Amino acid sequence: LREQALRDALTGLHNRRYLFEVAPGLIELARRHDHPLSVVLIDLDHFKALNDSYGHAAGDAVLQRFAALMLANLRKSDVLCRYGGEEFVVVMPDLDIDSAARTIQRLLELYYAEEVEHRRRHLPPGTFSAGIATFPSHGDRLEHLLGRADKALYRAKESGRARIEFAALTGFATLT
Ligand code: GH3
Ligand code: MG
Ligand code: MG
Repeated sequence: LREQALRDALTGLHNRRYLFEVAPGLIELARRHDHPLSVVLIDLDHFKALNDSYGHAAGDAVLQRFAALMLANLRKSDVLCRYGGEEFVVVMPDLDIDSAARTIQRLLELYYAEEVEHRRRHLPPGTFSAGIATFPSHGDRLEHLLGRADKALYRAKESGRARIEFAALTGFATLT
């Protein structure tokens, strides 16, 4: 029962509640060991259009395929969550922002290349946009890192989708 309460029923990934339970401890571990930790917010592009054209069940199938792709291509030690509708969060212990970006870029390429068939119809290739923030550069609390990743995600959407953006550095390093 407890395991069910921490998982998303459609995809089998962990849910938002699990994320908020485990991520603070992972950040604390990263601090103690002086290791980086990256937080990635992923939002599937034009997902409403997919539902509208192919139906909600097709949208569900794509969400399941995307979750399977994440499970197959990310590390066992990464925390994979369905954060909401077509939004996902990945917490990547020990990965700095460049390594995290490379991994997510590869996921984007795999997702785009994947052929999904639903009720004998080929679905069009999909893309996603993502924002990445890293401990310690962009914050030391999950809420802050998610907020920074969300701002970066917004920029990824604004600048054309199907891309990954980094959180900007703040504090002494920037002028704004
Ligand atoms: P953008 O590229 O800006 O992210 O556009 P979008 O269409 O992906 O974003 P928007 O927020 O307008 O729409 C998200 C859609 O995701 C609308 C909602 O119906 C759909 N959605 C959310 N949860 C589910 C789900 O569990 N199953 C299915 N099939 N669709 C879902
Ligand atoms: Mg969304
Ligand atoms: Mg979307």
